[in-house]
Amino acid sequence: MKIPRVPLVATLVAVAAAAALLAAPAPVRAPATAGIVRATATGQTETGRAPQTPTAPGQTTPPTAPPPTPTASSGQEPTAAPSGTVPGATPVGTRPPVVDHGPRTGNKVALTFDADMTDAMRYQLRSGAVRSYANLKIIDLLERERVPATFFLTGKWVEQYPDVTRRLAANPRFELANHTYGHLAFTPDCYGLPRIAEREMTADVARTFDVVAAYGGRQTRYFRFPGLCHDRKALTALAPLGVTVVDGDVVSGDPFAKSWRPVVRASLDGVRPGSVIVLHVTEANAPMTDEALPHILAGLAERGLEPAPLSEVLGVG
Ligand SMILES: [Zn+2]
Repeated sequence: MKIPRVPLVATLVAVAAAAALLAAPAPVRAPATAGIVRATATGQTETGRAPQTPTAPGQTTPPTAPPPTPTASSGQEPTAAPSGTVPGATPVGTRPPVVDHGPRTGNKVALTFDADMTDAMRYQLRSGAVRSYANLKIIDLLERERVPATFFLTGKWVEQYPDVTRRLAANPRFELANHTYGHLAFTPDCYGLPRIAEREMTADVARTFDVVAAYGGRQTRYFRFPGLCHDRKALTALAPLGVTVVDGDVVSGDPFAKSWRPVVRASLDGVRPGSVIVLHVTEANAPMTDEALPHILAGLAERGLEPAPLSEVLGVG
């Protein structure tokens, strides 16, 4: 089910180059690097919003607050996959499948929102340079319109936004998935993202499942690599975890967008039954997504397509 990903590459370069920008504590905007972003990422560069106050909705609970609703998975061996019918669960000990989309039948599509969080991003929050990496307007809209969605959460994002995570887990239309603990690169060359050591990969992803599991809700064994970067070693590292790797076939290009229109166009151009649309809920790093979303929803409806949880789109729900 591999498909060509030309637009995807440009988008990933934009994301990763921006991440590289953020790798330095300060300043955010290094002119030389920003030039690289412009040259490779269809004009999208730099953070979209001016520095604001550090206080933000959803940040009121200290990151160290204990998760609210421990589940049966607490105390589990970190490398043990949940048994039974958890969506995305695959046999432990086998290299996980990589999925781009579901069957091209029916009318369901998956809206997936990545919640990145790196140490550099946390520095931006602490310093007050960035107000929020949690776009509550997206969640408000999805809740108001009763739209199903799937959230790929990094462990550090969950720790930064426990209240928001609680809200996501409480929605019966939302599925929760895994986007690593700290959004490090799992391949040697992943657009400049800082790299995780191979020996630490399994524990990093297992730890993230544990962090997310404590919130309950619709847990899954779906996993998405940062930058969608994976190779044989990275996939082998996940074998003990019994997961399904989900890339996606429609990349919205929402990171660092300066207008909502290109995001809408990219989201709707190639969308088909079974599509998995990649979006971001990271606000400061994807500042137009909340404005694009109503238009995306309208466009899907015009095409007779209906958002559904990822597990349903992949045909296992
Ligand atoms: Zn990401």
